[in-house]
Amino acid sequence: MSKKQKIMLARILISAAMLMGLAFVPVSGLPRMALYLIAYLVIGYDILKKAGKGILNGQVFDENFLMTIATLGAIALATYDRSGDYSEAIAVMLFYQVGELFQSYAVGKSRRNISALMDIRPDYANIEREGQLVRVDPDEVSVGSIIVVQPGEKIPLDGMIVEGASALNTSALTGESLPRDAKAGDEVISGCINMTGVLKIKTAREFGESTVSKILELVENASSRKSKSENFISKFARIYTPVVCIVAVLLAVIPPVVNLTAGNLALWEVWIYRALTFLIISCPCALVVSIPLSFFAGIGGASKVGVLIKGSNYMETLSKTKVVVFDKTGTLTKGVFEVNGIHHNAMENEKLLEYAALAECSSSHPISKSLQNAYGKEIDRSRVTDIEEISGHGVVAKVDGTTVAAGNSKLMKKLDIEYKDCHSVGTIIHLAIDGAYAGHIVISDVEKPTSRQAIAQLKKAGVEKTVMLTGDAKAVADKVGADLGVDEIHSELLPGDKVSEVEKLLKAHTGKGKLAFVGDGINDAPVLSRADIGIAMGALGSDAAIEAADVVLMDDDPMKIAKGIMLSRKCISIVYQNIVFALLVKAVFLILGATGITNMWGAIFADVGVTVLAVLNAIRALRVRNI
Ligand code: ADP
Ligand code: MG
Repeated sequence: MSKKQKIMLARILISAAMLMGLAFVPVSGLPRMALYLIAYLVIGYDILKKAGKGILNGQVFDENFLMTIATLGAIALATYDRSGDYSEAIAVMLFYQVGELFQSYAVGKSRRNISALMDIRPDYANIEREGQLVRVDPDEVSVGSIIVVQPGEKIPLDGMIVEGASALNTSALTGESLPRDAKAGDEVISGCINMTGVLKIKTAREFGESTVSKILELVENASSRKSKSENFISKFARIYTPVVCIVAVLLAVIPPVVNLTAGNLALWEVWIYRALTFLIISCPCALVVSIPLSFFAGIGGASKVGVLIKGSNYMETLSKTKVVVFDKTGTLTKGVFEVNGIHHNAMENEKLLEYAALAECSSSHPISKSLQNAYGKEIDRSRVTDIEEISGHGVVAKVDGTTVAAGNSKLMKKLDIEYKDCHSVGTIIHLAIDGAYAGHIVISDVEKPTSRQAIAQLKKAGVEKTVMLTGDAKAVADKVGADLGVDEIHSELLPGDKVSEVEKLLKAHTGKGKLAFVGDGINDAPVLSRADIGIAMGALGSDAAIEAADVVLMDDDPMKIAKGIMLSRKCISIVYQNIVFALLVKAVFLILGATGITNMWGAIFADVGVTVLAVLNAIRALRVRNI
């Protein structure tokens, strides 16, 4: 409990004790009223203050205003009819504050839960200086520095291991509890915890660009993107509260006037009391609090399993997903190619591979990384100039002054170079040196182990169609697609073609659910933003993809797509349950209050009760285990 909450608890206890004690104190008249007023102010002074501020700022109609009018009205009535029954006004305030305390406790707790699970922000980085480890702010470490991470420490910056081997705990990022082995040459991302060995890491990004910073930024911004249901509630409250106030005034005035004109007693007190009760019941707190809290808990719950949802509006879209479109390389396959063969080469294999690796030295395409790995030697970038990457085709660059073109058959056609077809199934990288064909390298990628199951689970979750789009050759695409059980396959697409394919699908499915595109972001950022919802692979994906996407999968596991959809559905259904439940109870009690069947006590119980139940229901969205 925070200090503020403790003070509130003390106020509740003091005021409650006074309320009970005063029942036995034999005073009447003004002294009695003064004593009750003290108890009232102890519990309600901040509400009165807030209501006053609201009126001054022109934002009159909020729940503070409702509570103030209702309780002051009750006190005025008790004074007027000399009953001296002030306890009702105090009790109403008391229960209202109990409800508020409960809410703030629940909200604080779920916020803390989320920040605990987001406890990935590193406090320091170790740098070796003159044989000693010095702790510095991760912000001060420049790219290319060597940092030392000891067992038990968080990896503060993204980079590559240059020395040492260890097991990494990635659960804070991915929800995956099995440790991941890492050794020299592996890339590591910040936010993982180093468990067993000492690692020396050469940093690849500054702190602000590192994975941890990106994730924290995402989570911090998530609550500012509001969904339709949330907007609905704030609009609703803006109209609802004034309407309720007008109805209350009418309720206080019309029946007595009608009574009078009919020659009966006016019964002003009865109807004013009913109007005040009506005001208390109409307090919209349950909705105002529980809906943002449900989304907040839902986003927190999803990030626990490594699915980062950038805002509650995406939560709503994700829950309606009916078509899932995949990129192939890096999304359904690992994006780590192996060289299977080198054919028709005009020079030694080694030399050809060297040309390819050098020409690819600044591309971020998985193919480029794989060729550099296969080459295996340090790459001297100073030998390479005039690099041009043509997306969906390949690269052209000058290596030691000679022009090297490396890419698919489209690239060869574009450059007017005669190439030889390959008969093995795989991704073919043709090479041309100084305009003359120099052979091709056959590389192949492997499917991610969970891809097949991921597609099956999407089907089970009610996704009607799965589609794979790829720039790769038809033979490879068809084989992968058939293996995984994808419904529709489109291959040999340029990045622009992927956008038009997605647009065709969007058109065919308008009004029949939402379309999600899943990609690793290597030249598919435009598609990510064109789809109803863009899902990016966070660990392997490019920064551009993580920017453009609405949902980021931290561990690149396609199984998380179905999981994300299920979680979002659960969260949305909790939101609707709360809306329906709260409005129903309110409607019933509004009628009971207006007809005098329930009094203020019943009214406040209904209000606090609904709020407590709605908040408890909202917190369910944080639980993700059983999905
Ligand atoms: P995918 O849809 O499989 O992610 P891309 O659109 O990224 O495919 O690339 C399509 C094809 O273009 C690749 O299969 C490859 O043949 C060629 N290509 C793209 N970038 C490169 C590169 N850097 N080097 C060689 N070939 C490339
Ligand atoms: Mg790709």
